[in-house]
Amino acid sequence: MMLDANTRDTLLGWLDQAGKVAILTHTNPDGDAIGSSLALARALNKKGKEARVVIPDGLPDFLRWLPGIELSTTFAYKREQATGIIQGADLIFCLDFNDPDRLNGVEELLHQSDAKKVLVDHHQNPVEFADITISETWRGSVGEMIYLMLGELYGEEIMDGGIATCLYVAIMTDTGNFNYASSYPEIFHIVGDLMKHGLDKDKIYSNVYDAFSEDRMRLQGYCMQEKMVILPKYRTGYISITDEELKRFNHRKGDTEGFVNIPFSVKGVRFTALFVEKKDRIKVSFRSRGNFPVHGIATEHYQGGGHINAAGGDSFLSMEETLARFESLLPGYEKMLLDE
Ligand code: 5GP
Ligand code: MN
Repeated sequence: MMLDANTRDTLLGWLDQAGKVAILTHTNPDGDAIGSSLALARALNKKGKEARVVIPDGLPDFLRWLPGIELSTTFAYKREQATGIIQGADLIFCLDFNDPDRLNGVEELLHQSDAKKVLVDHHQNPVEFADITISETWRGSVGEMIYLMLGELYGEEIMDGGIATCLYVAIMTDTGNFNYASSYPEIFHIVGDLMKHGLDKDKIYSNVYDAFSEDRMRLQGYCMQEKMVILPKYRTGYISITDEELKRFNHRKGDTEGFVNIPFSVKGVRFTALFVEKKDRIKVSFRSRGNFPVHGIATEHYQGGGHINAAGGDSFLSMEETLARFESLLPGYEKMLLDE
């Protein structure tokens, strides 16, 4: 069971009392953040709640088709409405982040609220801020956790095609279409259950992954041709992109999503990094295969965090200095990188 008897009773009690529910997720949201949040909102609405999702910023285009997207409000664009949702909530769910500082400004409203707070997350080392923390760091996605939680709270009858679609998007995207973070039987049992509710898995794949603009594909080609650096000695590959390059390819938010995985296609690479120049910093993303823990390097050197195989942070040096520094860190990790 995901919820122990006590937690389940407490949560059901709070839900029973709650008229309005706010669901918050992290800045720069991904498929797991949005899919899990919409699924929960749809389910709670079916139970007579007024449940709404608040996204800090940056809803990517490839998620806009999701059933229930109209239940979400983006704080960066509709500040008043988003504020009203949080201030009016009797109960607040926080999904797919381990620290309120991932809310990019929305955390103040969270802290000011007297509502009960429930965190459902799968990142390492969740910060203690919620009244109930449900943390399962070994899971590939929060989508699975919401599926199990809804079943334990309301039974399988709560599921429908729309909720199943949102949850499938969450699971599919956070595992790179079952490419990582998914090597355990239960995830496939959950997907099997979701499929009973009539989701169209191939259409969902296409909606999410065959949705790039031509500019984005050209940018990817340019990065592979001109910007990818492979360091076989450290089994490492990285890509860096400057602001000027992004502009040259008419960059839209989300265009560099997934680029961090590109160097894995080179035989032998097990650690990858992506450096993207932003206004005031360089956003750093890390991925690894196997047991090289990238959240360690993100926490120690880039003021960030994340999971064992996916993490990120920031660099405040120039791009050139950032890359030189990154390469200078690698010898310190050589043993771990070469250890299978
Ligand atoms: P991405 O590389 O896709 O931006 O992030 C991958 C994962 O790393 C995220 O799911 C998140 O857990 C973590 N992450 C990325 N950037 C940061 C950051 O700046 N701070 C923290 N704490 N975690 C981050
Ligand atoms: Mn996630």
